[in-house]
Amino acid sequence: MKAKDTSVESLTKGVEFLLKKNGVDYVKGTGAFVDANTVKVLRGKNIIIATGSESTPFPGLTVDEKRIVSSTGALALTEVPKKMVVIGGGIIGLEMASVWSRLGAEVTVVEFLGQIGGPGMDAEISKQAQKILAKQGIKFKLNTKVTKGDDSGENIVLNVEASKGGKEETLDADVVLVAIGRRPYTAGLGLENVGLDVDEKGRLVIDQEYRTKASHIRVIGDCTFGPMLAHKAEEEAVAAIDYIKKGYGHVNYAAIPSVMYTHPEVAWVGQNEAEVKASGVKYRVGTFPFSANSRAKTNLETEGVVKFIADAETDRILGVHIVGPGAGEMIAEATLAVEYGASSEDVARTCHAHPTLSEAFKEAAMATYAKPIHF
Ligand code: NAD
Repeated sequence: MKAKDTSVESLTKGVEFLLKKNGVDYVKGTGAFVDANTVKVLRGKNIIIATGSESTPFPGLTVDEKRIVSSTGALALTEVPKKMVVIGGGIIGLEMASVWSRLGAEVTVVEFLGQIGGPGMDAEISKQAQKILAKQGIKFKLNTKVTKGDDSGENIVLNVEASKGGKEETLDADVVLVAIGRRPYTAGLGLENVGLDVDEKGRLVIDQEYRTKASHIRVIGDCTFGPMLAHKAEEEAVAAIDYIKKGYGHVNYAAIPSVMYTHPEVAWVGQNEAEVKASGVKYRVGTFPFSANSRAKTNLETEGVVKFIADAETDRILGVHIVGPGAGEMIAEATLAVEYGASSEDVARTCHAHPTLSEAFKEAAMATYAKPIHF
């Protein structure tokens, strides 16, 4: 916890320093629109809203960030829980489950859908990840929903039943993590003073140039459309400022990587197999297991696989999905390949250093356009 706090402090101070260095005035306070050009006491010709998101509450359970926690509290627990129940097997639920399970907690993840990791994660990779995490001791209840929670006793008691309805059972825990999604955070912003629209999910409505209907007010990040990812917001910030300064800007939403920071990591970019299938495009899949990779073997971390999906006709890479050691770093190469419209043969014919995990990436590309050498 001390190391975590030190990192967070030094990173946020670093950002503050960069603002100063680049001539940005930083005003500490809560901003709210007074009118279309005034945020509380500041006036701006152009205004960018980047207020982010907050954890979606679970009806009936009050988050106190001690016993019933969101990701915020889950990152600051003062002791390892004996029994932890995670409501929602999405990215946050699994990351926190992975942390506390490795520190010794008995963790059960309750997920409404039939797969973990959310619908964006490739089904085959999700299954593999679940198998690996289950082997580490995390218990999963898929196709299950939490219907009720009671935190009045010493232990928190949750009622769960099959998603489609069915026999009810109870789970008890000393810590419950609510990770059923996040929602845009715009409360107190004074949107009504400017007449800005939000959609049914509370997201601020914008056009291609990130403009609200007050065209000098733009929105980026979690409080508008798209995946709730810091690096997506960062790209949008640059594009929105480019629009203001130069009149043009661009974010390629087809090449935004996703990383789940569990142990091992899961990472992907582009379309998953179900999405490619649904699009009707003929495709080829190539995979390579880390168990056949020299570096993974040396490091005794051989679980996982790299999976490529490429257009069967053009060989253009449509998606890359990885579960295994260093997946979150490896996905950068896949993202570059997708951004440049590379084929699986392009990657397969690129020399990769030996002995590295990245050879598994090359071999999966080889398996897609021809065949791997080391499997
Ligand atoms: P999520 O949408 O990824 O997952 C929520 C899960 O909860 C879903 O799988 C859903 O089916 C399930 N669920 C909903 N209601 C339920 C119920 N009553 N009982 C059981 N299961 C239920 O949301 P999250 O994990 O809370 O994350 C929120 C957002 O923050 C996501 O967009 C995520 O990508 C983003 N985020 C990403 C990272 C990362 O990329 N590493 C880290 C933190 C947050």
